[in-house]
Amino acid sequence: GREHDDRARRLAELDVRTVIHPHSVIGAPEEPLILERGDGAMVWDVTGKAYIDGTCGLWQCPVGHGRPELAEAAAEQIAKLEFYSSFGDYSNEPSIRLAERLLELAPPTMRRVFFTNGGSEGNETAIKLARLAHHHAGRPERSVILARTGGYHGMGGGSLAATGIDRLRAGYGPLMPGIEFLAKPHAVRGADVTDALIAEIEERIERIGADRIAAFVGEPVLGVGGMVPPPPDYWPRVQEILRRHGILLILDEVVTAFGRIGHWFGCERYDVEPDIIVTAKGLSSGYIPMGAVLVGERVLDLAGGAAFLHGFTYNGHPVGAAVALANIDILEREGLLARADRLGRRLLDALKPLERLDHVLEVRGVGMMLGVELDRGPDTAAAAAGVQARARADGVIVRASGNTIVLSPPLVIDEQQLDALTRVLTEHVATA
Ligand code: PLP
Repeated sequence: GREHDDRARRLAELDVRTVIHPHSVIGAPEEPLILERGDGAMVWDVTGKAYIDGTCGLWQCPVGHGRPELAEAAAEQIAKLEFYSSFGDYSNEPSIRLAERLLELAPPTMRRVFFTNGGSEGNETAIKLARLAHHHAGRPERSVILARTGGYHGMGGGSLAATGIDRLRAGYGPLMPGIEFLAKPHAVRGADVTDALIAEIEERIERIGADRIAAFVGEPVLGVGGMVPPPPDYWPRVQEILRRHGILLILDEVVTAFGRIGHWFGCERYDVEPDIIVTAKGLSSGYIPMGAVLVGERVLDLAGGAAFLHGFTYNGHPVGAAVALANIDILEREGLLARADRLGRRLLDALKPLERLDHVLEVRGVGMMLGVELDRGPDTAAAAAGVQARARADGVIVRASGNTIVLSPPLVIDEQQLDALTRVLTEHVATA
């Protein structure tokens, strides 16, 4: 009714006047979408309008919105002990139990867990730990980090420096030195590009000198960089080269873990055993900020006994850990990993025909991580943003990331919702 609309309008005005949003234009008023309720794959805004959530916000919510189990887990832990720092020799039961659980789910070479508040912090941690490990083992000159064009690792000093997306790097002055970028590992339709990607890595290591390189960091499937699955034999071959040269492999699984691509960790799907796994988002389904860095045996061999003077106030948060444990229970109990694979294939099949349009370059994806890449020449990013806006008006949330429409619905989305999403998206991509 009117009251609803008045409140919505007042909130929108206040938002524009008071809040600087992440990834927004400072001082340029936009029409905010103010959400206030969620249930499964649906969210509702302050006017009562319903939306099918095609993105999980920013990939963070595999179990869907409005889960009472997670609210209870948080409330119970807050009532018992809301928080105590886990610096040094302080600890708490939920984070101990969560570490045990994660090590059970992860590849067998993973040995320890360092908790964070999110993905950027996780990558800062991984990069520092990789450098410290070599330093501690008597090779401080091993500090270079190999990263990839199109990679996204976060917004902190090190994690942004390792992010290979120019529009995100511009304007912040000199970033952390010691990062070397390799080509984007994009399997071009029909062509075998792995040999070229592997040759580039070999040449680069040769040029820099393996004895100056600490680690290689990459996402199993590029997310922000366009939902780009790698060529099938890419990861095992990368791993072989890195092992041969004593370079650590950091896999950024902030998006790909906890079912998003059909496994607990994406590395299982790609047959690769990293030395460090960074994860967040789906770990707690975003109900509370939570991340984790899993540390493998090769890192421990190098870094055992090193003073790791690193950490933030809220690392090892008992409420985040309690929520993560309850979240993992849901993923397991409801078979959501297998569901991601099944529904992801259905969505990919339904969208694939869009490739017949001249202005659709590619429809691709793995599990519930899909992208529709447009090509409207210099107007492509604007065309993608237009699809996002028109789909939203029709009650479907998708996200334009550069030239690509990004899809990553909650894994609990049902077939009907998925088909409705497909219909709306197909219509607006066709006219983009
Ligand atoms: N790494 C990847 C692959 C991501 O997609 C993101 C966020 O989208 C991050 C790191 C950063 O995580 P956070 O925003 O929680 O700091």
